[in-house]
Amino acid sequence: MKIPELREKINSLASQSSHLEPEPDQRKEWFQQVGDYAEHFLKGLNERPVFSTTSGDPTQWSSDFLPDHPAPLPQLLAFVTSEIDAHGLDPASEGHLGYIPGGGLYPAALGDFVAAVSNRYAGVFFASPGAVRLENHLVSWMADIVGYPSSSAGHLASGGSIATLAAVVTARDAKEIKARQIPDTVVYCTNQVHHAVNKALRIAGLGEAIVRFVPTDKRFRMDVQALEVLLKEDRKKGLHPFLLVASAGTTDTGAVDPLAELAPIAKANNLWFHVDGAYGGFFVMSDLVKHLLQGIDQSDSLVIDPHKGLFLPYGTGTVLVRDGAALQNAHSYLANYMQDTLRATDERSPADLSPELSKHFRGMRMWLPLRLFGVAAFRAALDEKILLARYFHQSLAEREGFEVGPEPDLSVVLFRYCPKQGDADEFNRALVQAVQEDGRVFLSSTTVNQQVYLRLAVLSFRTHLSTIDRCLQVLEETVAQLLK
Ligand SMILES: *Cc1c(COP(=O)(O)O)cnc(C)c1O
Repeated sequence: MKIPELREKINSLASQSSHLEPEPDQRKEWFQQVGDYAEHFLKGLNERPVFSTTSGDPTQWSSDFLPDHPAPLPQLLAFVTSEIDAHGLDPASEGHLGYIPGGGLYPAALGDFVAAVSNRYAGVFFASPGAVRLENHLVSWMADIVGYPSSSAGHLASGGSIATLAAVVTARDAKEIKARQIPDTVVYCTNQVHHAVNKALRIAGLGEAIVRFVPTDKRFRMDVQALEVLLKEDRKKGLHPFLLVASAGTTDTGAVDPLAELAPIAKANNLWFHVDGAYGGFFVMSDLVKHLLQGIDQSDSLVIDPHKGLFLPYGTGTVLVRDGAALQNAHSYLANYMQDTLRATDERSPADLSPELSKHFRGMRMWLPLRLFGVAAFRAALDEKILLARYFHQSLAEREGFEVGPEPDLSVVLFRYCPKQGDADEFNRALVQAVQEDGRVFLSSTTVNQQVYLRLAVLSFRTHLSTIDRCLQVLEETVAQLLK
């Protein structure tokens, strides 16, 4: 093509591609329509069931899923409402009391909007000093609240699992675990450890390492003496103890391992000490329970999830590593085409501390709510969750027929109903299913010591006393119905 022809062709393509840049009036209209959708969604939270067994209408999806021609936004938002929002579990609901509840603070959504509109490049300091500095400040703030030194480092990841992978890879490299040693390398945790840890070990190439499940006490916490016995035995066998994983709040029962007792054992045995605080880490902000988390500052690495304990929408986890250089050694890489980005005055870049290069500017969704509401509101919400769990535990213990697990360390309560006749496990399986189908609250179940237990997990910022009272009422009504 000659240049005039080329110009003509380019201009004719631009008349189509410029549809990708809407006019200001169109933007305002769309913004309004999305805002209306959000209001409608939030107003309906208490009218919709927390859980629906339906999955939508697949025929709405199959034919011409992504056509060439444009569609009006209200039609697309109606599709979201009918095909996505109405089915399965509603993590935004105050009644979500199963698994580990999610959040979804409204200003976090606004933060995502701001970050996506400006699309600042938050991977490298050179590209957006402000975005990177914001994320570095958030990481330092988290390091500070858990008691890590200023020489620590970390990054905002997409969630706890990916953050765990970064921690395991850092541990592997810091302890110089080579391929041939892996079959003799030993990892210590309890059987309550989150499967994200096992998954991370396998992805990090440590799938052939030996995993020792250290016995737990009655409250599902790691038994320190049992750990010491295992360590001695393994050394005698000529094995290579490498990694100790403790939980700061297990998913199943909310148990916190005795971190302060474990830390010196890890040190004496030259173990990398990792703490999984994906669920429970932010409870260091609560004066009610922070004593339980003592020793968390002595860990070598820590995972702490703002999309759990800070009530953010899904997509934000954090890894912190006490020796920041170890995190950097495991993740930094130089590419020729990035040579302009190296300047001595630069602050740390997420790209040098994480597996990601181009990444979502996650800091904006975290900073905006923290600043807009102030940190005190978060501290109060965390205290409230702890007390709501204690309230539920005590209230249920007083009710005939219910058996409660240990007093909760954090905000997870284990319980079951003990019918006078029949199989208790079967009854409790039926109970959890009936509660889920009822839809006023959502609970999940687990198996502990070979018995089926129901779990109540309080972590939604929308869950308040009236929600827990509703849950107690639903349980009483459902048990009565099942006994009929
Ligand atoms: C949720 C959770 C994880 C996994 O984190 P994701 O953000 O879901 O990937 C790991 N450990 C514990 C204790 C958790 O509660």
